[in-house]
Amino acid sequence: MSGYPLPIRALIGELSRFPGIGEKTAARLAAHVLQSSTADMVRLAESILEVKEKIKICSTCFNLAERDQCDVCLDPSRDRSVICVVEDTETLVAVEESGGFAGTYHVLHGVLSPADGIGPEQLRLGDLARRVAAEGVGEVFVATSPSVQGETTALLIKRILEDTPVLVTRIALGVPLGGSLKYVDKMTMAKAIEFRRGV
Ligand SMILES: [Zn+2]
Repeated sequence: MSGYPLPIRALIGELSRFPGIGEKTAARLAAHVLQSSTADMVRLAESILEVKEKIKICSTCFNLAERDQCDVCLDPSRDRSVICVVEDTETLVAVEESGGFAGTYHVLHGVLSPADGIGPEQLRLGDLARRVAAEGVGEVFVATSPSVQGETTALLIKRILEDTPVLVTRIALGVPLGGSLKYVDKMTMAKAIEFRRGV
């Protein structure tokens, strides 16, 4: 990349820090930036800044939000007796798009991984237990991916909620073992929600 002027090299360096973007792809994106109009690239820069300035974490479910609470928590038509636990906001979007779930969420922002220092506290499982106790929740539906870490996380949630009357359910494994839920198509997701079972 040393053949490029310094500002281009700097841009390639920044772009290659995105997940899944290698140096070659970054160089292609940088060429696109160069060819685009200044107005288009100002819009791109502004939308990145807007996301950084305006997006917060929902104080109830830890979903992304523009206010103190997210759109799902603010929606009075959502069923507050069921909480769906997801690993990340991408999985939340996949569940929403399936149209198969009308309750609320709890976003873990990860899965249990003691080796990486991710324990119950990082996943805000204490907050989940408090919500279950305070909001009269009848079911906690764990929609973590069918990976070893996703399963371990589901079992931990079951253990934490053991002394409460809440029913803990797990997404049905119509989805491939070891796969990631966020990439599941709408139909499969809707079925996996419909056929959820007790842990
Ligand atoms: Zn929320």
